[in-house]
Amino acid sequence: IWTDVLGYVRKNISEVEYHTWFAPVRPLGVQQGSLVLGVRNSFAQEWFRKHYLELLEDALRSMGAQAPQVSFQVLPAVQDAMMLPADPPPPKLTNGRATGRGGMPERTVVAPFENRKALNPKYIFENFVVGPNNNLAHAASLAVAESPGKAYNPLFIYGDVGLGKTHLMHAVGHYMSERYPDKRIEYVSTESFTNDLINAIREDKMTQFRNRYRSVDLLLVDDIQFLAGKERTQEEFFHTFNALYENHKQIILSSDRPPKDIQTLEGRLRSRFEWGLITDIQSPEFETRVAILKMNAEHHRMNIPQDVLELIARQVTSNIRELEGALMRVVAFASLNNVPFSRPVAAKALSNVFAPQEVKVEMADVLRAVAAQYNIPPEAIRGSGRVREVVTPRQVAMFLIRELTGHSLPEIGSFFGRDHSTVMHAIAKVNDQLGKDSEMTEAVAFLKRRLQGLEGEEI
Ligand code: ADP
Ligand code: MG
Repeated sequence: IWTDVLGYVRKNISEVEYHTWFAPVRPLGVQQGSLVLGVRNSFAQEWFRKHYLELLEDALRSMGAQAPQVSFQVLPAVQDAMMLPADPPPPKLTNGRATGRGGMPERTVVAPFENRKALNPKYIFENFVVGPNNNLAHAASLAVAESPGKAYNPLFIYGDVGLGKTHLMHAVGHYMSERYPDKRIEYVSTESFTNDLINAIREDKMTQFRNRYRSVDLLLVDDIQFLAGKERTQEEFFHTFNALYENHKQIILSSDRPPKDIQTLEGRLRSRFEWGLITDIQSPEFETRVAILKMNAEHHRMNIPQDVLELIARQVTSNIRELEGALMRVVAFASLNNVPFSRPVAAKALSNVFAPQEVKVEMADVLRAVAAQYNIPPEAIRGSGRVREVVTPRQVAMFLIRELTGHSLPEIGSFFGRDHSTVMHAIAKVNDQLGKDSEMTEAVAFLKRRLQGLEGEEI
């Protein structure tokens, strides 16, 4: 069974999470109807209870168990106190198909009380961080949730995998089912829609099929790009669409590309998809990524320093699921090794995943580190002050930025509101002092190691 359970789990969480948590688990057998799993320590035990119990039960249920039970036992300590399980392969950051389905149950049931159960409880508006990359899609979803069938119909959301399309769709579903508990909501992946159709045809149950899809108030169809090339499904979906549309029922569609780029999509469907509002989600900016990590950390009641979150946000730039996976990996690493969260710990935790890439250092990181080292505010370093207390740190900051980032002299100059010759002079000055001025030599060496993630708590 365990292999099947793992197969199920793997489809529903990110690769990083899978390797972090599930790879080291040992199945210990079945005791009194409960699947007993061996985990490495009490932290992992707690973590599984909190985060993965339901998923494991779902897995067993999907294999036919009526009342699945799972329990955890801490395995006797082994000689590997230091490290995580086998290193995961680098996560697939942009390959749509592989991770597209996310942690979602495949299909929802229509009965109202089932609505909320079938939607992922985590995917609500309150948990959605709004940034410049997704604010239009977010606003449109909210508008649709507030006046279904009236604001934009259909709402078509497109964007790369892992950027929040499914999250937004579910959020609309939650919003509606809270306000109008008797409304019928159906969330379905395009694959499930296709499968349902095939089954209906085979079992001669087309009437039921049509009734089900045409009697809802809100139809959420995920990953509609998979309609491409499926003529019969397109035909059926066309009629479903029309029936709902004519009755002013809300339709929300998601896709990894805009309608015009879905190959072999019938013209009449394409034009219908374009009737309402088409909105996209882009990759999140750095600040949005940090905000998402922060929210995630708070959710898990973990106090993780800002600079650690920033380090993670620099490493994972496109896919939010992988961003969350990276955070989990850092948490797991720090907890299993019993060390506090720090940049070096985070860099180490992620080094296997994101190798061989070095820790990316940004100008702002250097500025912050230098400011902390000299105990002055970062603004003072970038300001116009000419006293020694700010001039030295400013020169050190310019020197380090030049050493550690790929920025040119004019770029560094403009970051400090100065011209490139000032930067050149600063760098020469620091070079000159190195070896002579022991305080500066030490500070520069320390900052360099720290910024490269090599210095910090022993791990
Ligand atoms: P998609 O459907 O576009 O592939 P998902 O909706 O499955 O992406 O999102 C992937 C993960 O990222 C989910 O865990 C989701 O909660 C999270 N996520 C995406 N966008 C945001 C956001 N703006 N704020 C918070 N979490 C987000
Ligand atoms: Mg999705």
